[in-house]
Amino acid sequence: MSIMYRIMNSLLLLLIFVPTQNALGAKWPKPTATFLTGNLPSGGPVSGLPGDTQTWQDTAREAAINWNAAQGIFTLITSTAIGNVINCEVSGDNSLSFSYTECDNSSFGDSLLAVTRNWSPSNAPTTIIESDIIFNSNKIWGIYDGTLVFSVQDFRRVATHEFGHAMGLAHTTSASALMFPTASNTFLPTTDDVESLESIYKEEKASGGSTTYLLLLALGVWRLRLISMHKKAD
Ligand SMILES: [Zn+2]
Repeated sequence: MSIMYRIMNSLLLLLIFVPTQNALGAKWPKPTATFLTGNLPSGGPVSGLPGDTQTWQDTAREAAINWNAAQGIFTLITSTAIGNVINCEVSGDNSLSFSYTECDNSSFGDSLLAVTRNWSPSNAPTTIIESDIIFNSNKIWGIYDGTLVFSVQDFRRVATHEFGHAMGLAHTTSASALMFPTASNTFLPTTDDVESLESIYKEEKASGGSTTYLLLLALGVWRLRLISMHKKAD
């Protein structure tokens, strides 16, 4: 990685602790994106909760469906294909995966449940061309709705929250919204979340971006945006 890349990355890591208050201003050229779930483990959680009968991959699909059912402006598609996953690099695939470390093998720290990295070309910083969601393997994960269970993180609501970032949503100051930076008993998108999404895409008229995408991939110059979900204070 170039020195320029590393500088940008270290600066943007600060965003973890300074949640933005408004939409990030970046969006997909078309209001749809396909995420690959095949890099998630084939099984499911071992948390002792009833959701242990479910799989990571099916649950990730359900998280996407949570968004699709709540609004009609952006369509999240999931595929069970195995993607090209390279931490902190553009890979060409939108993927979900678990990892014990963050970028460059740095620790997630205790407060981070997951991170979403949205990538934009350096000369088109408001255009998202790739998004990768990485869950913190150091946490104990389960699958459940409703009230948060102490010490067991709910994979589905965190995935739904991260999909919000993946579509371009920033954190909200509304404590009852899914996009609040701290995990809460809210496990589905709320009116606040949907209105934020509509504010980004309501005027969207898709323009073909595939040619530009491939050209910029060859140039290898990227802007990294890093946004994340925090753990509720114990
Ligand atoms: Zn977040």
